[in-house]
Amino acid sequence: MNAPVNPKKLIKGATGDWEIVIGMEIHAQVTSQAKLFSGASTAFGGDPNSHVSLVDAAMPGMLPVINEECVRQAIRTGLGLKAQINLKSTFDRKNYFYPDLPQGYQISQYKSPIVGEGEVIVDVPESGETITVRIERLHLEQDAGKSIHDLHPTMSFVDLNRSGVALMEIVSKPDLRSSDEARAYVTKLRTILRYLGTCDGDMDKGNLRADVNVSVRRPGEEFGTRCEIKNVNSIRFIGQAIEYEARRQIGILEDGGVIEQETRLYDPGKGETRSMRSKEEAHDYRYFPDPDLLPLEFDQAYVDELAQHLPELPDEKKARFMGDYGLSAYDASVLVAERASADFFEEVAKGRDGKAAANWIINELFGRLNKEGKDISSSPVSAAQLGAIVDLIGENVISGKIAKDLFEIVFTEGGDPREIVEKRGMKQVTDTGAIEAACDAVIAANPEKVEQAKAKPTLLGWFVGQVMKQTGGKANPQAVNELLKAKLGIE
Ligand code: ADP
Ligand code: MG
Repeated sequence: MNAPVNPKKLIKGATGDWEIVIGMEIHAQVTSQAKLFSGASTAFGGDPNSHVSLVDAAMPGMLPVINEECVRQAIRTGLGLKAQINLKSTFDRKNYFYPDLPQGYQISQYKSPIVGEGEVIVDVPESGETITVRIERLHLEQDAGKSIHDLHPTMSFVDLNRSGVALMEIVSKPDLRSSDEARAYVTKLRTILRYLGTCDGDMDKGNLRADVNVSVRRPGEEFGTRCEIKNVNSIRFIGQAIEYEARRQIGILEDGGVIEQETRLYDPGKGETRSMRSKEEAHDYRYFPDPDLLPLEFDQAYVDELAQHLPELPDEKKARFMGDYGLSAYDASVLVAERASADFFEEVAKGRDGKAAANWIINELFGRLNKEGKDISSSPVSAAQLGAIVDLIGENVISGKIAKDLFEIVFTEGGDPREIVEKRGMKQVTDTGAIEAACDAVIAANPEKVEQAKAKPTLLGWFVGQVMKQTGGKANPQAVNELLKAKLGIE
């Protein structure tokens, strides 16, 4: 708790430095066909109230039946978070009234969750640091329905399609110290969930949302009182909400005020948080064990079986990319951030120079896709095509410069890179006679530069550029270099 504080993370107030403390509760919708306690579909976008069983509508006498697939997914997620898996856990009723909660309570896990303590390793791009964020718990619970107030001037509507869908609530310890760290944490957690296939992480659809707990303190002092910002549904907004909220709290404290523990909402339009209600306490919900559900029990063999079939996760993949392909930590983490880009990379890199493959994907392909607003799964250049381009450079058939032109042609027009090179005469000129002629022409046309180059060998680059221009970029740059050095008498 008294670890030295990186001064870059501190916020300067009027009366000195402040440190932000953040802990997050992430609600992640479980990827499953059916809801947590009913057989109704979890499909997104159906007509209102078209995916609602009698259980989800809380008709009298209906009983919940646990969906084994949701349990399996929660265990797999726990394993992915290197967390303690509890072989016995229980379901509780969290009682409150809301029109979109027909049961009058949410079935959740309170005292004994299915997953206990774990951790997430997070690379923070802005600070260059790698931090470990401790996970406190992961529990299963039902989602609520949706109240709709803006369809009619005097009436409200309720859509229960979401009612009863399984959520995993993943609670972190208050280990985050900046908005950058918070954003990187959610991004990494989402990557892990997507690799596991346990949540699609689609924040636009509300399938992943964050309750962000923020407090501030003087560096090294006790934690301050937190405010909880509910249901933030984009990573950018998480960062903005934290920045605003921390400064709001600092302002109050520096004016001699105190922070009231409360629940707040972030308004992205105004860029501010506002109070929603004073903080409810656990006892307000009158939690008690749900008498309709037996404790959830399974054996270690079941957990071990799931552990054995876990896919390779981003941290392992990153380590393997660094070891097997000689990639830098940065390149490796960029590539493993999405499973699709990691797979794409491996297809290009197989049997080729891994670093060259990574460079092309990160520097050329990602940049170009970004410009078109596309992602790797809809890339107009396939891994096979990009592989062929890398081969053509490796075989000295084309120069790196021509390769960029070739890449652009393949990106916009498609086609077999080898055929394109052949047909459009893009092959590198390795015939020294032709290159020599171009060198001689440049030298003859620039006698005063030739004189200067004798005293200033760095001018060689200028000559190389001129010869490349003359040959339409097709001269082999190494041959040009060597010939020019000899002709200009540069060592
Ligand atoms: P609740 O349901 O009351 O919000 P939880 O225990 O589920 O309580 O979640 C508390 C969250 O608040 C955790 O993510 C925790 O890390 C975070 N937290 C606790 N104390 C602080 C604090 N002083 N500042 C910021 N975050 C905090
Ligand atoms: Mg909370």
